Amino acid sequence: MREAGLRRHWSRGLLGSCVVATVLAATVSGATLSSAGSSEVNVYSLRQSFLVKPLFDAFTQETGIKVNVVFAKKGLVQRLKSEGANSPADLLFTVDVGRLQDAYDAGVTQAVSSSVLSAAIPTTYRHPEGHWYGMTTRVRILYVSKDRVQPGEIKRYEDLADLKWRGRICTRSGKNSYNLALIASMIAHHGEAEAEKWLAGVKANLARRPQGNDRAQVKAIHAGECDVAIGNHYYYGKMLEKEDQRAWAGSVYLVFPNQAGRGTHVNISGVALTKAAPNKANAIQLMEFLAGPGQTLYAEQNYEYPVKPGVPWLPQVKAWGVFKSDELNISALAELRAAAARMVDRVGFDG
Ligand code: FE
Repeated sequence: MREAGLRRHWSRGLLGSCVVATVLAATVSGATLSSAGSSEVNVYSLRQSFLVKPLFDAFTQETGIKVNVVFAKKGLVQRLKSEGANSPADLLFTVDVGRLQDAYDAGVTQAVSSSVLSAAIPTTYRHPEGHWYGMTTRVRILYVSKDRVQPGEIKRYEDLADLKWRGRICTRSGKNSYNLALIASMIAHHGEAEAEKWLAGVKANLARRPQGNDRAQVKAIHAGECDVAIGNHYYYGKMLEKEDQRAWAGSVYLVFPNQAGRGTHVNISGVALTKAAPNKANAIQLMEFLAGPGQTLYAEQNYEYPVKPGVPWLPQVKAWGVFKSDELNISALAELRAAAARMVDRVGFDG
């Protein structure tokens, strides 16, 4: 009876946001939302509802397993930590390897060993012991002014520090997780000293103080404030979707950096099995669905790339460019985040 009531709260969470307090109350009392062997799985998602909902519906249709979701913009790792062994959550969905690693570091994940997952997901895009798995990839690219920059004028991340671009570059905060991962990749490839010189050079070339999100940088190119912006690739598609942003996208072309060398910097969105996971078998089934039949659907929601090699890309995304990816193991990026953040402070990047 009690459990049925709690389940109802979860369902309501799909529609409303009052679910958070309910879940906390439920776990404080030591109850779980659905017991092992039931046909449910509980997800904590830092990804927005529209990105994961179609996928969960497809999973439910195929397996009969109901997916209950709590969405939040932040704080879910902390919540998993406070809930401990009583947490109702089975899976954590998030973007950025840094955030997945935060969950691992907080001790709220457990390793998954699955032949389906290991066969589908390259080692580069998963935790060495299986504490998290990348499910889609995204790349950090350059948005370049059609009017003011000739094709071929900028080709590499390293070029961003070139004197030629003085006062012509826009980006968001250096402390943003997307930029931290990019800086971490520069440290991995060039060492700290070289990377720091580069970052100071980029800072010297900024047209304005770091501010706004990735799309705001492309808007600034459209407004003539800068000529080159750093941003994640999928925002191109998102800007094209919106009437008021289409002109921003129309003012730029995309450059996938470092094609003649190591390839373009890659990050992931991914999933971790929680340590508590009351519905572990169902959760692993959902992970395997994501890595298998759900790959195309999941990637498409946000113009991302399937993590599984050989899965076709959305034609529109393919038209933006087929490129060589940096093969650096994504775990290395997570490990260098702290060093990247200190470097951002040392060069006064955001100041
Ligand atoms: Fe994003």
